[in-house]
Amino acid sequence: MASGLNTEVQFLKGVGPRYAKFYNKIGIFTVEDVLLNLPRRYQDRRNIPPISEAKPGQMVTVKGTIRRIESRTVSGGRVILKAILEDRSGAITLTWFNQPWVRKQLEDSSGEIIAFGTVKAGQYLDEIASPEWESLGEDDGEEFAKIFPIYPLTEGLPQKVARAAAKAAIETYLGFMVDPLPSGLLKSQNLRDLKWSLRQIHMPDDEASQKLAHKRLAFEEFLYLQLELAMRRAQTKQEMGIAFPIEDLIAGKEIELQHALEQEPSSRKEKVTKGVSQPQDLFFSVESERRSGVPLWNQVHEMLPFELTKAQRRVIGEVFDDMARPFPMNRLVQGDVGAGKTAVAAACMLAAVRSGYQCAMMAPTEILAEQHGKSIRKFLEPLGIRVELLIGKQGAKERKLAGEAVANGSAQVAVGTHALIQEGVEFQNLGFVVVDEQHRFGVLQRKALRDKGIGNPDVLVMTATPIPRTLTMTLYGDLDVSIIDELPPGRKPIKTHAKKPFEREGIYRSLRELLNQGRQAYFVCPMVSESEKMMAAAAEELYDTLRMQAFAEYRVGLLHGQMKAADKDVVMESFRKHELDILVATTVIEVGVDVPNASVMVIEDANRFGLSQLHQLRGRVGRGDTQSYCILVSDPKSEDAMKRIEVMTQTTDGFVIAEEDLKIRGPGNMAGTEQSGQLDLKVADMVRDAALLEVARGVAMKIVSSDPLLEGKEWEMVHQKLKQKRSDVALITIS
Ligand code: ADP
Ligand code: MG
Repeated sequence: MASGLNTEVQFLKGVGPRYAKFYNKIGIFTVEDVLLNLPRRYQDRRNIPPISEAKPGQMVTVKGTIRRIESRTVSGGRVILKAILEDRSGAITLTWFNQPWVRKQLEDSSGEIIAFGTVKAGQYLDEIASPEWESLGEDDGEEFAKIFPIYPLTEGLPQKVARAAAKAAIETYLGFMVDPLPSGLLKSQNLRDLKWSLRQIHMPDDEASQKLAHKRLAFEEFLYLQLELAMRRAQTKQEMGIAFPIEDLIAGKEIELQHALEQEPSSRKEKVTKGVSQPQDLFFSVESERRSGVPLWNQVHEMLPFELTKAQRRVIGEVFDDMARPFPMNRLVQGDVGAGKTAVAAACMLAAVRSGYQCAMMAPTEILAEQHGKSIRKFLEPLGIRVELLIGKQGAKERKLAGEAVANGSAQVAVGTHALIQEGVEFQNLGFVVVDEQHRFGVLQRKALRDKGIGNPDVLVMTATPIPRTLTMTLYGDLDVSIIDELPPGRKPIKTHAKKPFEREGIYRSLRELLNQGRQAYFVCPMVSESEKMMAAAAEELYDTLRMQAFAEYRVGLLHGQMKAADKDVVMESFRKHELDILVATTVIEVGVDVPNASVMVIEDANRFGLSQLHQLRGRVGRGDTQSYCILVSDPKSEDAMKRIEVMTQTTDGFVIAEEDLKIRGPGNMAGTEQSGQLDLKVADMVRDAALLEVARGVAMKIVSSDPLLEGKEWEMVHQKLKQKRSDVALITIS
C-alpha cells in the first residue's frame, strides 16, 4: 500500500493537531480515511433563490444578513434562540433550541450567512428550525457558486475545515489510490474508475458527474456484499448434505432404508464427520410394506383436507428438488399471512420422514408452536407418524417423555419453541429442519438447531413477514427463496377502515350487528410501552371498559403476555370454541392465532404500530369464508403515521406493505435487520439504488460461478477488501 495514503490526517492543509482530534473521534486517522469519508449530501450554491421564494415544507438554502438575535429561556431552563435572516426580497426566522453558544458564533460572524433547513410556516415570518449554517464573508478563497459537499461531522469540526481537508487530500494524495475493481469490469458495467469518482464525489463539477461517481462507489459497496453472500452460498453447495430419495418416493418405488440403529454409535459419529449421514428405518420398520408403495404426492394430497394452491404445489416441488440434491438445503419460503405455509412444511416433512429421517419445526412463541403442533399432528398422525411437542411450559415429566421419544427415534417429528435447541434435547436422526418466522430467530439459533442434526440437515426457513426483494437479496442472500404468492381460494380481501376515536360509537354499533350474526372479534389494545406489564395493564383496562359498557351483553375474554400459560390456553380455547364473542388482546396474538370465525379486528391507537406489525395483526382475520373487517382507530399526527394508516387501507398485499415500510423507515429498522452487521452501507442506499443492487448481484454470481474462491489475479484486491470486511464484522459480532 502506498505510504502516502497513511499520512496522518493532521498533516492535511488546515487540519493540524487541533482538528485532527475531532477527526479521530469519528474514526478518521489517515489521509485515506479522509478520502473515503464521503459527503452526506450536497448544497447547491450555484443558484440560491431569494428568501421570499422559500415556501413552507421545502428544504432550502438561503443566504442573507443577520438582523436581530434574541434568546429566551423557557420552562425547564431550555433556551430558544431566534435570529432574523434578511435579503433584498424578504426575511425568515432561524431558530435554535438549547444551543446557546450559537448566539456568540452568530455575533462573531461577519453577519452574512448561508443557512440550510426545512421551512415551516410561522406566525409572522416563516421559520427554519435548527438550520445548518455557515458564516460567509471573510475571504477564504473558496469559490462560492458551485456544489458544496456537506460532510457527516461531530461538533467541533467545521464544514469549512472538512472541505479544505478533503480538497487537499484529493489534490495531493488521490494519485496513490489504487482501484480494486479490474478495468474490464468497470468497462463492461459502464462505470467510472475510482480516482475520477472520488474527485467527483468530493468536488463535483455538476450533478451528473456526482451521480456517476455515486453510482460507481455504491456499486463497489454492493459488489462486496453480494460477493460475500455468493461465496457463502457456493460454500454450502460444496458441503455434503443428505440426498433424500425423493424421486423414488414420488414414483412410489419401494425405497431401501439403511438401519442406523444397527450400527455402533461411534461408527455413526464417524459418518457425521465425513458429512454424509445414514438414514435410519423409522416407522417403515413397522409398516413399510403398506406405505412404501404410495406415491409421495398422492399421500400429500390425501393427508390435507383441502386442495393445495398452485403456489403451494410449486414451492413444495422446489423444496423436493433441493431435498433430492446431495447438498444441504437452505431455503427461505416467504408467504403472506394465511398463504398456507404450514401445509407446505407438513408435505416436506412427510418426504423427510418417509426417507427415514426425523424432522424438527421451531416456532418463536409457545402459542405458535402449539398451533403448529396441532396442525402437523392432524396431517401426519393418521399416517402413523408420531409428532411430539417440546415447549418451555410443559411439566418436567411430560417434557422428559417427549424428549426421550425424540432421542430414541420413536417420534419422527418434534415441534417446539427454542426449547428445541436447549441442551439436553437430542435427536436420533435429524435430517430436516423447519424454522418458522425467521425474523424472530437469529442466524445463530438457526445454526444451533441445524447442529443438532447429523451431518448437514436440510433447512427450510418460513417467514410470514414479506421482505422487500432488495432486503431479501442482502439479508438472506445466502438462502434460496421460494414465494407462495397466492392465497387459498375463496378468501375475501379484508376491508380495512381508518376511523377517528370520536367515531367509536358507530364502530361499536356495527360490531354488535356482526356479533349478532355469529361473528367473533379481536380488540388489540394500544401499544403503550415496550413493557409487557404495562401492556397487560392497558389490555385489562380496555377489557373492563368493553365488558362493562358497550359490550355488556356479550362474552368478552382477555389475553396478554403476563398471564399464566395455562390461563392463556383456557382463553384461547374458549375463543376458538366460540364461547367468547370478543377477545381483548395485546400483540401476543400477532403471530399464529388461527380462528376462522373471528372476522373483525379493531386496533386501538393504530398509529402506534409499525406497518409490518399492523399487517401481521390484520392477518388474524380473513381466515374464513365470510367478509372480514379491520378497523384502525387512531388520530395520527405525524406524517409517517398517516402514511402507514393510509397504506393499510389501500392494500392487503404484504409485499407492497413491506416495500412501503422500507421506504418509510429505511432499511436499518426493518424486521430482521437486527443481526445485520453486513448491512452497514456507507454510500449505497438500498431503496434508491435498488436497481444497482440487482446488477451487482448478477455480477457477483457470475464472478463466483467461474472463480468460487476469487483466486484470479484480477480479484486480488477485491478479495483483500472482503477479508478485511469479514474481520470487521467478526469484531462487531464478538463485541
Ligand atoms: P400461514 O402460516 O401461511 O399464515 P397457515 O398455514 O396457518 O398459513 O394457513 C392458514 C389457513 O389456511 C389454515 O386454516 C389452513 O388450514 C388453510 N389453508 C392452507 N392452505 C389451504 C388451501 N390450499 N386451501 C384451503 N385452505 C388452506
Ligand atoms: Mg404460519
